[in-house]
Amino acid sequence: MNKKVHRIVLPLLISTFTAVAFTSCNQQQNSSSTLNASAASAETPKEKPAAESAKTAAPETDPKTIPADKIADAPTIIARKQVPILCYHQIRDWRPKDSENARSYIMPIQVFKDQIKMLADSGYHSISPDQLYAYLTTGAALPEKPVLITFDDGDEEQHTLAAPELEKHGFKGAFFIMTASIGRRGYQHYMDKQQIKDLADRGHTIGCHTWDHHNVKKYTAADWVTQIEQPTKKLEEITGKPVRHFAYPFGLWNHEATVELKKRGYLGAYQLAEKKRDEENPLLSIRRIIASGYWSPKTLSNNIKNSFR
Ligand SMILES: [Zn+2]
Repeated sequence: MNKKVHRIVLPLLISTFTAVAFTSCNQQQNSSSTLNASAASAETPKEKPAAESAKTAAPETDPKTIPADKIADAPTIIARKQVPILCYHQIRDWRPKDSENARSYIMPIQVFKDQIKMLADSGYHSISPDQLYAYLTTGAALPEKPVLITFDDGDEEQHTLAAPELEKHGFKGAFFIMTASIGRRGYQHYMDKQQIKDLADRGHTIGCHTWDHHNVKKYTAADWVTQIEQPTKKLEEITGKPVRHFAYPFGLWNHEATVELKKRGYLGAYQLAEKKRDEENPLLSIRRIIASGYWSPKTLSNNIKNSFR
C-alpha cells in the first residue's frame, strides 16, 4: 500500500477495530450485569485526604532489580489474592448517536468522577503495574486496599480529564496506547506524543496496546514485529522509559501470545475478566474488569469485590 492510500484507509480500519473492541467490552458488560443484580450495600464513605493516601502507599520496586531466583513459580502466583484491576476507555458524556451497548464502555464525565471518588473514599490506594509485578512474583507488600486503574486505546480525554481526576485523589493510572492513532483528531481524539510523555513524566505508567488493535491470536511472524516490537520501541522513544506492560486488544489472547510477549521482555499483559489466567504464564494473562458507564459507585464497589476474590 502506498503512503497516500494508507493515510486514507487507516482511520477506517481503526474505526472498524474499535467497533469490534466494543463488542468484546459488551460481552464483559453482560456478565457483570449479573453481578449488579446481587449487589449488596456500598461501603460507608470515609474521607481520606490525598496527601495521606500518598504517604501510606508502598514504595515502587523496579522489577529489573528482582533476581530471577526470587521469582515465584506460576502456581504460587495464581494462588495469591488477586488485586482489583479496572479498565476504562472513553471518558466523555454520551452523544445521541451512541448505542445502548456503546454506553456501557463510554464513561460520562460525572460517572467517572463519582467512581474514582468512591475508590478514594473507600480507602483504596492505586498501584502501578510494576508494583503488581513485584507483589505477584515476590509477595512484596502492597498498600492497604490496592487497586490498579487502567485505560486502553489512548483517547485524548484520558490525559485532559482522567489523569487530573486520579491525581486529585493521589492516584496513578496505567495507560495502554494503540500507536497507530497517536495524535489523531476526528470523531474521537487521541493523545499526541507530548500528552503521552506528560503522563509518563507525572508518574503514570505507559503500556503498549499494539499498533492498530489487531487480535494477537491471529498474528504472523511479521505481525509480532509491526504490532508489538515497533510500537514498543516507539513508546519507549516517546516516554524515555522502558515499556514492560501490555493490554490485549478486545481482551483476546492465547498461550502462544503469552510466550511471544515474554520473549520480547514483557513482564505483564492484561486481558479481561472472562477467562482464567494462563497456567504457565499467569503474569501475561492478568484479569481486569471494564468499569461500565452505567455503574453507580455502589455497583462498582460491589463488582470489584465479586470479581477479585
Ligand atoms: Zn482497545
